[in-house]
Amino acid sequence: MSNIDEIVLTGDRPTGKLHLGHLVGSIQNRVKLQDEASKSFYMIADVQALTDNADNPEKVSKNVIEVALDNLACGINPKKTTMFIQSEIPEIAELTVLFLNLVTLARLKRNPTVKNEMKQKGYGENVPAGFLAYPVSQAADILFCKGNLIPVGEDQLPVIEQVNEIVDDFNRFYGETFSKVKHVVGDTPRLMGTDGNEKMGKSLNNGIYLSDDFETISKKVMSMYTDPKHIHVEDPGQVEGNVVFVYLDIFDPNKSEVEELKKQYKKGGLGDMVIKKRLINVIENLINPIRTKREELAKDPQKIMKILEEGTIEAQKVAKETMAEVKKVMRINYF
Ligand code: ATP
Ligand code: MG
Repeated sequence: MSNIDEIVLTGDRPTGKLHLGHLVGSIQNRVKLQDEASKSFYMIADVQALTDNADNPEKVSKNVIEVALDNLACGINPKKTTMFIQSEIPEIAELTVLFLNLVTLARLKRNPTVKNEMKQKGYGENVPAGFLAYPVSQAADILFCKGNLIPVGEDQLPVIEQVNEIVDDFNRFYGETFSKVKHVVGDTPRLMGTDGNEKMGKSLNNGIYLSDDFETISKKVMSMYTDPKHIHVEDPGQVEGNVVFVYLDIFDPNKSEVEELKKQYKKGGLGDMVIKKRLINVIENLINPIRTKREELAKDPQKIMKILEEGTIEAQKVAKETMAEVKKVMRINYF
């Protein structure tokens, strides 16, 4: 049953292959919503990826197909979801320029997501203007297709808030044109990194990728931080903040066995190897079908590019309609 009011817009930055954080934070919802919403758009945000990779455009263009493969392997169906590339929709850039006038520099600098990412990247005052303004460009990404339901991870919520401020100002200045945007976060809104960092991120080098093979998964799990005080098997161990247990809680389908293991671990007598081996199998079971499908799809890259080309043509049509409406309400439709 499709809900006629819902237009889903979501996307990834092509800065690397996708990881488990993407799966639980956003992709699972994307897959579900493509059957429920009236329309679904999936955008590969290459322009946004360039805001912090201007010196390395090849990294961005080379990863376009990788993120497409990851989404297709997880169940995004191009017949249900319009998959397109951001830079191919010039109206998004046009809307960005118009929206920039609705936002102050002070507000941009206050956005907690951007602030946090700026800190991570060590930008300080030397932040690229495009990076600082990416929430404005994200408003254009969402509104060019009248998107109103946005599957995102928790890290993006302040950006969605800022998009709604732009919606409010636009409607107030030029008349009711866009509806408010709603986010939808996954069951795990923010997956921790394998290093214990609060977020698994492509740019943070702390991810388990949807394309990782068994050996790589094993190595990553084996190197996970557990409880530094849990030295001997018989020592009581801590479960809170213990990355292996955090992941078991999220990914292990057998919740009661995990509870039992936690009890044993706290009491002492349960070694790290046992829980790590269990986690390796749990993750392998989750990733194996995705990896297999991905490998199959990757054999025909031209087919993937064709999917993106067709989706982009579809998105271009929608963009033209919205742009005409925007120009009309703004009274800049001269000819
Ligand atoms: P980058 O480091 O280049 O920003 P990223 O790993 O943050 O990469 P994005 O392409 O920026 O990935 O994010 C795509 C989507 O996945 C966003 O909706 C984001 O909120 C979500 N997401 C990313 N990482 C996580 C995570 N660790 N947990 C939950 N959701 C996540
Ligand atoms: Mg990100």
